[in-house]
Amino acid sequence: MPPSSAQNLVKTAADNSVREIAVFCDFDGTFIVKDVGSTLAQKYVADLRPAQMGRVLKGEISAWEYNMQVIDGMRVPEDELEEFLNSLELDPGAEDLLAWCHKNAVPFRMLSDGFDYNIQRLKELFGVEFDCDCNGMHYEEGLWRISPGYPNPDCGCGTGVCKRGRINEFRAAHPGVVTVHIGNGRVSDLCGVLAADIGFAKDTLALELGNRGVSFYSFETLKDVVTELERIHIS
Ligand SMILES: [Mg+2]
Ligand SMILES: [Zn+2]
Repeated sequence: MPPSSAQNLVKTAADNSVREIAVFCDFDGTFIVKDVGSTLAQKYVADLRPAQMGRVLKGEISAWEYNMQVIDGMRVPEDELEEFLNSLELDPGAEDLLAWCHKNAVPFRMLSDGFDYNIQRLKELFGVEFDCDCNGMHYEEGLWRISPGYPNPDCGCGTGVCKRGRINEFRAAHPGVVTVHIGNGRVSDLCGVLAADIGFAKDTLALELGNRGVSFYSFETLKDVVTELERIHIS
């Protein structure tokens, strides 16, 4: 993706008609329709999930500790993973969003609490390209072994990729750029959407923001997001 800089503006800053923006986007359940990790966990470690999820909800363990209890060591045969990844679908507006950012020289970055192995394979399968911050996963004797990508002890999110941390780091390097975060998850997207200047939310993230009285753009597909970004960008 091209760097964010003044010469990338579609119109000159002098007429104040274009805002320089940067887009951050969640992957599972937002860029693709399903959630890879939780769908596989429902199939392969269904017995472990409810108790550990209960502990997360009670605040006894963090989201990443949940991953270590449930996902780390999960035995997913590689051919079954490949078959599952082949069955997934992009959000109907996913490619439109990438194209819109590219056309307008708007920096785009995927922020995912999912795993690099799966995202890399899905990029190949769908023929799409984007920068991505996520967690690590590799196979060890048939078992998933995972490692956190960007944990942040200063944030309450407890995830492997603190999206607030990623957005704040970008902001420090690019002061004045309007940051946008798009997501669907109450746990993995909340700190990111609160850190961003503009939030797009659906599913549990939208419910959580509603409960907190935080304003956001709601969306059903990324096509809705592109329509709104066009308005935000040229205003
Ligand atoms: Mg998600
Ligand atoms: Zn965080």
